[in-house]
Amino acid sequence: MLRFSISLLAALSMLSSCKQASTEPATDETPFVWSPEYFSDKKIVRYQVPGFDHLNLDQKKLVYYLTQAGLSGRDIMWDMNYRYNLTIRHALDNIVRNYKGDRESEDWKKFMIYVKNVWFSNGIHHHYSSDKFIPEFSREYFNSLCEATNTVLMEEVMNVLFDPAIDAKRINLEPNSDLVLGSAVNFYDPDITEAEVDAYYASIIDKNDPTPVSYGLNSKLVRGPDGKLMEKVWKVGGMYGPAISEIVKWLEKAAEVAENEPQRYALKLLIEYYKTGDLKKWDEYNIAWSQATAGDIDYINGFVEVYHDPKGFKGSYETIVEINDFEASERMAVVAANAQWFEDHSPIMEAHKKDTVVGVTYKVVNVAGEAGDASPSTPLGVNLPNSDWIRSEYGSKSVSLGNIIEAYDQAEGPGLLAEFSNDQEEIDRAKKYGKLAAKLHTALHEVIGHASGKLEDGVGTPAETLKGYRSSLEEARADLVSLYFLMDEKLVDLGLMPSLEVGKAAYDQYLKNGLMLQLRRIEPGKNIEQAHMRNRQMVAAWVLDKGKADNVVTMEKRDGKTYIEINDYEKLRELFGQLLRETQRIKSQGDYEACRDLFETYGVKVDPAIHAEVLARTVKLNDPPYAGFINPRLIPIIDAEGAITDIKVEYPDDFTEQMLEYGEQYGFLPDKNQ
Ligand code: ZN
Repeated sequence: MLRFSISLLAALSMLSSCKQASTEPATDETPFVWSPEYFSDKKIVRYQVPGFDHLNLDQKKLVYYLTQAGLSGRDIMWDMNYRYNLTIRHALDNIVRNYKGDRESEDWKKFMIYVKNVWFSNGIHHHYSSDKFIPEFSREYFNSLCEATNTVLMEEVMNVLFDPAIDAKRINLEPNSDLVLGSAVNFYDPDITEAEVDAYYASIIDKNDPTPVSYGLNSKLVRGPDGKLMEKVWKVGGMYGPAISEIVKWLEKAAEVAENEPQRYALKLLIEYYKTGDLKKWDEYNIAWSQATAGDIDYINGFVEVYHDPKGFKGSYETIVEINDFEASERMAVVAANAQWFEDHSPIMEAHKKDTVVGVTYKVVNVAGEAGDASPSTPLGVNLPNSDWIRSEYGSKSVSLGNIIEAYDQAEGPGLLAEFSNDQEEIDRAKKYGKLAAKLHTALHEVIGHASGKLEDGVGTPAETLKGYRSSLEEARADLVSLYFLMDEKLVDLGLMPSLEVGKAAYDQYLKNGLMLQLRRIEPGKNIEQAHMRNRQMVAAWVLDKGKADNVVTMEKRDGKTYIEINDYEKLRELFGQLLRETQRIKSQGDYEACRDLFETYGVKVDPAIHAEVLARTVKLNDPPYAGFINPRLIPIIDAEGAITDIKVEYPDDFTEQMLEYGEQYGFLPDKNQ
């Protein structure tokens, strides 16, 4: 729910100035290749870790141990995404390593694209659309690869690979179908129905508990021997035990070199949680983690975001290791310091405002390593913890991943801005203010957006009331808080931006993206499934529609191409304010019908003509919509006594090599299907 990713990716793809090449001069004479590889709808990007060399030895060790802990759980994400993913990956890795036949043939090239797509997505379903990849090589060819490399796959798994009808979607969000039966994600036994899941959690959730645990967050729901549902908990000695034991081993080393006591205390609680699987421990950990703000190093590690569960209970394994970027953080701290002013001046209903906005922090960090759900595809910002009551009582930590954003920007291909901008004025504004607009949008979305507003008394949590629309609504609300204030003089007064031109640049980009550009991520004939995309189209299409009478925004065709023109930025701001008030009302009152209508009217269906046009115009630009990142390699230097004396950073440039290396070094889960 609280992970900010694609709108900023899109923002950057719109706003960054046109670069002719993806190489930039590095500090020494060799150019750093930011984007070594493209395939399908994806590009591979490398990132640098500025500041690592300035850390002291214990801090470097801390970073190293935390990244090792993170990678140790990599297999968990594969298994979570689909029950046969690990089996399939082992087979694919084995073929890639050992095939001695023709590696130049068209079939082999198609096979490698399939493999890379699977690596990129931690499984056989597209990381974003969740559709299953369909191999472009034949079953016979695949059989020949298996035979040549002694790779054995069960008939059932072969059918999964080659029959498009089997487990076609990782997540199914169609409101009139069974969300659980229709989703291939491995959080529920395949024969468990949505009604059974609802009944199970209704029976264990205590609605009157003011501090509820995150029910179901760390378990798979399975049918027990007696036919009744039960939870298989992810913990040491439980499901995913071998990988979790490795995570714990590295976290224990990390605790030894913690920068301060609050950080150490949080790490110890996380270890205890992994050992016991106790969700109360998870809450204790999150409270401790949210209070541990003093160090230069921070991390995310656990079963965190619930996007991949159609029911919103199960947390995906992820980890991000972060080093503070002091300069950028300081500027953004200004937003946090003024959180109360924003709440007081928000256009939402008085009854839905928080009297005190607590503990909002915002940091820009540089990533040193990622794994699980955060890799190779990564968020650009994160706001945690997710538990509503912990957030309101203890606050939360918000980070923007500065070096990832920088790398993405450096790797950006030319042309999108020129192709889709309405006029030269818009292009100039984007070049001048686009980057700042994107940074401020992230800051406002995370720091004041997600923190703003409160539920009315007696209203259930958004997961209970808004069901499958909850994430889309929450992201829309946070975006709208940001959009509303991006055209406020207050940001100029605070020194955060030089003029309202920055806000205009943000509006230009938001509408272009929500109404057109993001459609390049959707296959022809498909509707929008992903929460962030639904949110952005809903917001953009709603203001377009409601502003028609006053001619606020127009979409018009010139020379066969559609352009978006904003005629009145002030009125557009008012419309964002109205929609903010309404989305907050929906959340505060748990108004499911209004929420569903909003998204089904504006957010889900794709205009086929515009869609086709966007695909045709972007395909010419040859810039893939998705980016995945190669992690740096941290190498400990060890002396004769076995002690670590330093840690060096290397920047690998081969995606295939890294994927094979990870599969070998961090393959801690036994394959139950072989
Ligand atoms: Zn968000």
